[in-house]
Amino acid sequence: MKKIAFLTSGGDSPGMNAAIRAIVKTCLHYNITPFGIYDGYQGMIEGRGKEMTYADVDNIIQYGGTILGTARSADFKTAEGRKRAYEFLNQNQVDGLIVVGGDGTFTGATILSQENNIPIIGLPGTIDNDIYGTEYTIGFDTALNTVIDAVDKIRDTASSHHRIFFVEVMGRDAGFIALHTALASGADSVLIPETITDIPKLVEEIKSHNKGRRSTIIIVAEGDDEGNALDILTKVKPHLDGYDLRHSVLGHIQRGGSPSALDRKIATRMGSYAVELLIQNKTGLTVGVRGEQLTTCQISEAIKEHGAPDLAYLKLIELLRTK
Ligand code: ATP
Repeated sequence: MKKIAFLTSGGDSPGMNAAIRAIVKTCLHYNITPFGIYDGYQGMIEGRGKEMTYADVDNIIQYGGTILGTARSADFKTAEGRKRAYEFLNQNQVDGLIVVGGDGTFTGATILSQENNIPIIGLPGTIDNDIYGTEYTIGFDTALNTVIDAVDKIRDTASSHHRIFFVEVMGRDAGFIALHTALASGADSVLIPETITDIPKLVEEIKSHNKGRRSTIIIVAEGDDEGNALDILTKVKPHLDGYDLRHSVLGHIQRGGSPSALDRKIATRMGSYAVELLIQNKTGLTVGVRGEQLTTCQISEAIKEHGAPDLAYLKLIELLRTK
């Protein structure tokens, strides 16, 4: 390993900069040239990248987003696009590639590796936490903290006005953010894509836990089977005459912001470990974390399987609900 290229791809997530910093510094420690590629696979196709130094990653650990930029590249899904992308790696004598992103990013790297026999390591970078083979993805913890801060604020106004709030959080296919933030913010109900939402049951729950209380908070994952927060509000409204119902969509604030201590730590450890794995001639792996331990998983398995939230959280939220 003389030169390692790396990129961030798919949706950005807080902590990607910490991973980039760790990759660059670990490479330099082992006398390997770190080669950053801009804007994910699209930048690779367009030949945009550079050798990086300590100065490039100075003072970035605390920033959300990614200094390399990220993109979704339709061209990379074509054989012609990947051929051009590999030519760029080849011209720059790259010996290994680290990609930070989600399932799609891992799929792209796997195909590139199979076509060109280049070693690859994947780091899970997404706020959604829906990657198989790890307890935490880079960015998930920061997103949770952003959401609970917002819910605390919504709770203040909900309590002042005796309101019922449907708070929509990110999660098109996965309920990790909804489930974890519902528990951490003391929400009364949570609706996630992994379970079937029963509108009449929800109406009864709302009536029951709103009795004698100043506020009710329902966290809704955007991809719930009954729709987003506004859809759910519209469906329950005819059955909740006299109740003051509101909805709030938290949106893109969930992706940004200074990464939490946990995200900085896991991103730094994962980034450094990815370089070490390539040095040990390992390839086709993703890095994960379980408790305090770093783990690895076959990238093929990480793509095939889907990370699923622990539904015991749902039971606990039900158990704690005011009756
Ligand atoms: P997020 O969880 O934030 O959506 P992701 O990595 O899953 O992250 P995608 O947009 O699905 O995001 O994938 C990122 C990029 O990976 C795509 O824009 C594309 O360039 C590449 N990619 C995805 N699927 C494939 C595929 N089947 N073949 C080649 N490249 C792919």
